[in-house]
Parts: sequence; structure tokens; C-alpha cells
Amino acid sequence: MTKQTLSFQAEVAQLLHLVTHSLYSNKEIFLRELISNASDACDKLRFEAINDGGLYENDTELKVKVTFDKDAKTLTITDNGIGMSTQEAIDHLGTIAKSGTKDFVSKLSGDQKADSQLIGQFGVGFYSGFIVADKITVESRRAGMKSEEGVRWISGGAGDFEVENITRPQRGTSVTLHLREDSMDYASAWKVKGIINKYSDHISLPIMMEKEEWKDGELINPSDEQGGRQPGAMVKTGEWETVNKANAIWARAKKDITQDEYHEFYKQISHDFEAPLAYTHNRVEGSTEYTQLLYIPGKAPFDLYNREKSAGVKLYVKRVFIMDDAEALLPTYLRFVKGVVDSSDLPLNVSRELLQESRDVKAIREGCTKRVLGMLEDLAKNDKLPEATTSAEGVTDVVSEEDKLDAAANAGKYTKFYNEFGAVLKEGLGEDYANKDRLAKLLRFASSTTDAVSVSFADYKARMKEGQEAIYYITADNAAAAKNSPQLEVFKKKGIEVLLMTDRVDEWALNYLQDFDGTPLQSVAKGAVDLGKLQDETEKKAAEEAAEAFKPLLAKLKEALKDKAEDVRVTTRLVDSPACLVVQDHGMSTQLARMLKQAGQAAPDVKPVLEVNAEHALVKKLDGSVHFNDLAHILFDQALLAEGGLPADPAAYVKRVNALLV
Ligand code: ADP
Ligand code: MG
Repeated sequence: MTKQTLSFQAEVAQLLHLVTHSLYSNKEIFLRELISNASDACDKLRFEAINDGGLYENDTELKVKVTFDKDAKTLTITDNGIGMSTQEAIDHLGTIAKSGTKDFVSKLSGDQKADSQLIGQFGVGFYSGFIVADKITVESRRAGMKSEEGVRWISGGAGDFEVENITRPQRGTSVTLHLREDSMDYASAWKVKGIINKYSDHISLPIMMEKEEWKDGELINPSDEQGGRQPGAMVKTGEWETVNKANAIWARAKKDITQDEYHEFYKQISHDFEAPLAYTHNRVEGSTEYTQLLYIPGKAPFDLYNREKSAGVKLYVKRVFIMDDAEALLPTYLRFVKGVVDSSDLPLNVSRELLQESRDVKAIREGCTKRVLGMLEDLAKNDKLPEATTSAEGVTDVVSEEDKLDAAANAGKYTKFYNEFGAVLKEGLGEDYANKDRLAKLLRFASSTTDAVSVSFADYKARMKEGQEAIYYITADNAAAAKNSPQLEVFKKKGIEVLLMTDRVDEWALNYLQDFDGTPLQSVAKGAVDLGKLQDETEKKAAEEAAEAFKPLLAKLKEALKDKAEDVRVTTRLVDSPACLVVQDHGMSTQLARMLKQAGQAAPDVKPVLEVNAEHALVKKLDGSVHFNDLAHILFDQALLAEGGLPADPAAYVKRVNALLV
């Protein structure tokens, strides 16, 4: 094959432009990315060699070498991992195979700060080399292929790249960065070692660099030992040293690992720039033995709501990397968790299918789920700063400075978590029956009395009115619609708090939660309002009388609206509004039906019940009006509008209203 020039996939070209323009504040991540690729390549070789030992080609000591050349202005990362064939180099270094790439690129705004956040999450990987290099040369040969089947890939990081066939006896890959003028400081052992210590200590392979030593410069006048010398310099000695700890972090003892190391490992596996909110590291012993190191990120990825998206937990078996994104290790609703599980019980050649059926994996999954919920419970518990407590004897609790700092560091973390991931957590009510009660305690909502999404079911219960028998909630498209919904009127009047549920998954999720800690959950938009003991006798009597007196009018309304409303009845839930829509006790809400339709899914035609406020002037006017039919339809359509819906025939609605206005 001769040299050929190929174009990058359009998304890659776009990404490259961004990489070089917006990642400046985090330049040094390129080394972490390239070393992580080298390490992945060694992992892959080890994995493939389980079935074909010949791939090692008698060289089983997997390692990464980092070298630099000040004169040539290059930095090179070399591994003896799996390597790439020509086609693989074209495919892997010219396109982005990750699912959701297009989706990701479409989210880029051109605002550098926002984009660099996004890009960080997406993981620019190999292309990050172009932050510091204006040209990258990759030479590679795949394990098991002939020396003559090597490949050289060169690109300046603009629109295209060149590939050609080369002879390369050694297996694996070397990536040479031709450093930009402003990035020359990366051609220094001191600088490179520092970055490796920061990011790559836990990489389980040795990362090697050539030792240097100081050499004095030549004498300017060779006959004069005391005379001046040329400047001295560090020179390479030909000896190699391992510059990282070369020990998988999760296999080390907890007490020997600093918080910084835990955080750096998280950044490495998650591509996040920020520290995680929490982590847990445990060695689990018993019938199934494994190590778990799990993290809760502080920021949602751009594709969080894609349930098909890969999970964030890597599976290792006895320190050998098996697979990324092992979705069997955690339920889908915990897909935001990042980390590693290393099992000593699973076979090395375990497949995804096998994982689904393995009893060990089931135990690991349960164990990991418990740990994650435990972390969330801790975050929730420490979300607010503790108030100084004074005992009955007047003794004020003394809080140590250390505890105060601790509390300050943890405060607000759960709120942050919940804002990012709360909606996903709710999916768990339907998905994880066994942990339903623990999950319910972790949920937070806004309410008719609290704007912030901060009210737990327990908070709500503690504030319930004397005689109140249910936890009341309303679902709506957004907070404003929920808060101003006519259905809330009587609750406001009586000072009863109502939880506002405005996430898309709320209605679905609440199907799985009938009660909290023995108190039933009741939608204020479903069934007849039964305020039970909250209603006094005179109110009950007035309602009954109104219903009786309105019977003939209700019959007429029902006839006029027979295509739209299931039933028409007098209500006690309204104060200021003339009418509202409710659904039967176990029916699907009109809001959910609307959402399903918008999503192109089949939804039953829900015919709501129209409830009218007998006290309202408009309703009183209905009887005997010559416009009865129009008013009836307007009443219905307005009730629909009030809950964020649209009249089935908006033009007809406008016409009717205008006719009355004129
Ligand atoms: P990711 O590592 O997330 O897959 P990268 O952009 O870092 O994305 O790398 C793209 C792909 O290029 C890798 O998936 C791999 O197939 C290939 N690759 C990169 N570096 C190497 C290497 N040192 N050895 C073998 N393959 C490599
Ligand atoms: Mg990578």
C-alpha cells in the first residue's frame, strides 16, 4: 500500500477544532489520555492472549515508555500492547465510534467555557494530543501480524490524515507528539514525571522513563582546570526507571490511599475535571469476593437520559481488565455511578451474556447497589449544616473545628447531586422493588410552600395538618403550572402543603409508590377530593346541597360536553377558578397521556371529568344563558388550558371567546 490521504469524519474535525481552542486551561490532560490508551492497549492484549498466548510474541512484560527529544521537540509514548492494523488506525483515529457522538457535537454551543465542560465529559481521548502538538505521528503494529504489516499515521490535526504501510518489528504503538512552540516545556523529565504522578500512578503497568543525570559542561580552556565551563545539562544515562506506583489503586489498602489519589483516579476514568461528590472503596469477602471502588459524580453527562447509554463501571477479574461499561453490575437507574469492580470469582473469559446470568454478578450488583444508596444517604444526611444543639440542662454541644470543616465540606452536596440526578433516581422506584423504601426516602420535591426542590416525604409528613390522612401531590409539566393549578385552591385555602411533581418520570414512578411509611400518596387531580377529617360538617353539608341543587344544570352540561368529558360534577376543590379537570381514581392523568402522545407513543384517550365550582359567577350565569353551549365548551377548554394542555380545536375556542367578547 502506498501513502494515502484521508479525511476525518466531520464530527472529528469539529472536535479537533474545539480541542485546540478550548482545552487550554487543562493542557496536561493529554498525557493522561495517551497513557490511558497505552494501558487500555495492554489490557486488550492481555485479554486476547487468554485464548491465544502466541500474541505475546515472547514478550510478556507489558509496559509504557515515555521519551522526549529536546532537539527534535518531540514527546513519545510507546506501548507494547495490542497495536493497530492499518484499517484499525484509519477507523479508530479518524472517526469516533462512541455512540451519541453526533448528539454530542450538536450540543456544542461555541461558548468555550461551556463546551470545554462538555468535551471533558465526552472524553476527547487521543485527539487531546493536539492541544500540545501541531503534528502527531503514530506508528503501530498489531500483535500477531507480520513485521511488514505495520502502519504509520500522520496528521496536523486539521481536516485530514495520512496513512502508509511500514515495517515495524516491535508489537504495539508509539505516539509521537511534535510539540507546539508554546508547549515545549513538556519535553522535560521533571514536568512529565510530575504529570504522571498526578494522573497515572494507579495505572497497573509500569510507566518507564530513561534516567538522566547532571553532566558539567566542557572546560572553555582545556589547560585550565579552574577556568570557566560551558553550561552543564541533564543527559540521558541509558538506564530506565519506573516512574509510577504501578499498582491498581483499588487493590491497595485503603489507609495508604489519599483523597487526592482517589479523586485523580476518578478524573481519569470519568474524564471529569471536577472531584466526585463521594466515593466508597471496599473489599467484600464471603461467598462472592470482590473489590468495589465506586464514585458519585457531581455533574450529569449530556446523555444521562439515554437509558441505552453505557454504564460507568468497569469490570476486572483478578486485576485483568475485562470490559468497560458492564451494565450488569448496577441497575440502570444508577447508570451515573463510575468506578471499578474487581472480582476474584468470575472466569476471565466471561461474556456480557454470561454476566447477565451469573449468580456472583447478582450478588455483586446487590452489594454495589447497597453501597451506592448508602453513599447517597450519607450525602443526604449531611446536606444541611448542623445547628448547635442545646440540651435540656442548657449544655450546648461543642463541635470541634475539624467537625465543622467536615460539615462545611459536605453541606450542599446532596442538593447538587439531586439537581443533576434526581430524576434518574426516581426510575428506581419502578426498577428496583427491593430498595423502593430506601429510594423513597431519598426523593426530594418542591411543594406549594417551598420553592426549592428540597422537601422529602418525611419532611412533609412532619408538617401534616391535624387530621390529614394523605400525602397530597400534583403532577404538571413545570413548576409554574403546578403551583398555579386550580386543583390546589382548596388546599391553599386550608393551608395544606402539596408536593409539586414536575419531572417527566414522576407520574410513571409514582405508580410504584402507593404510600410512604404507611401514609398513602394521593394525587390532587385524581378522583373526587376527599379531604376527610380536614373538612368540617358545615362545608360537607354545603357541598351536598350544592350538588343537589345543581343536578339539572349538570345534566345539561354533561349532554353538551358528552364528546369531551366523562362526567360533570360539582366540586369542593376550587376557590377562585370556575372549573377544573380531574381523572378517575385509577386512570392515567391527562398530563401523562399528553406526554405519551408527544413522544409518539400509544396513549389511551383519557376523557377527564369536568368539575365545576358552584360558587363561581361564571358557573352561576350558565343556567338559562342563551350562550349555554358556547359557555360550556369554553369552561371545559379553559380548564384544559389551566393545566397546561391545549383545546382539541384551538380555533373553535378562540371563535367562541371572541363571539362573547364582542
Ligand atoms: P477511547 O480510548 O475512549 O476509545 P480515544 O480517542 O482515546 O478513545 O482512542 C480511540 C481509539 O484509538 C481507541 O479506542 C483504540 O482503539 C485506538 N487507540 C488509541 N491509542 C491506542 C494505542 N496506544 N494502542 C492501540 N490502539 C489505540
Ligand atoms: Mg482513550
